Amino acid sequence: MNYRRILVFAAHPDDEMAMAGTIRKLSDLGVEVHVCVSTDGCEGYPVAEWKDDIVKMRMQEQAEADKVMGVHKRHHIGSPDMGLVNDKQTFLKFIEIVRKVRPDAAFTHGPDDRHRDHVNTCHISLEALWQAAEPVSMELGPAWNTPHIYYYTAVKGQPPHILYDCTGYAHIPCLARATQVSQHVLWNCTRQELEAEAERLRQANEPYCERFWMTDRMVLTDFPPLAE
Ligand SMILES: [Zn+2]
Repeated sequence: MNYRRILVFAAHPDDEMAMAGTIRKLSDLGVEVHVCVSTDGCEGYPVAEWKDDIVKMRMQEQAEADKVMGVHKRHHIGSPDMGLVNDKQTFLKFIEIVRKVRPDAAFTHGPDDRHRDHVNTCHISLEALWQAAEPVSMELGPAWNTPHIYYYTAVKGQPPHILYDCTGYAHIPCLARATQVSQHVLWNCTRQELEAEAERLRQANEPYCERFWMTDRMVLTDFPPLAE
């Protein structure tokens, strides 16, 4: 994880919190962390009266979470929630963000997921990371190859390739989710409960890892020779 810049793809405003401990740890180590959110989260209203305000609410919640996680910048594709489609216009937006951020590593949803936005984010981001390195659509910025690409969720039947030690950061996912007040009905918890649990985890300071899978896009080099 010795990177200068990373780019985390999330279908919805809070999906990236599955790796919130890693995000905060890398940020503390001086890595510039960018998050790219595919959709506006407009369907995530558990109370009918919130329909007109939910996007604004979630924008504010994302800004608050970014402070907790140490996110440098959040980028928005702006597709409607449940309506992310793999069309040309959306694809070009993904390429443009890759070329703008120029990450050393990208993290995205795994392919085995029941949510259409998660699966589409996986497919579009992987394709965009490849296409961004090709000399095409050059008005979107200079070509950029992202050498390392990981999944952070939804890989079935395969144990994670990497357990990243985030000891000391076990409370960060909880603390980040505490800021997502509009989603607490869905998660059947309150802000107070999440903050109390985060404090318990912080004080317990137990060993904590987050899981990652390497995609088949990664060319593995520079490994030390195996011991005899
Ligand atoms: Zn999601």
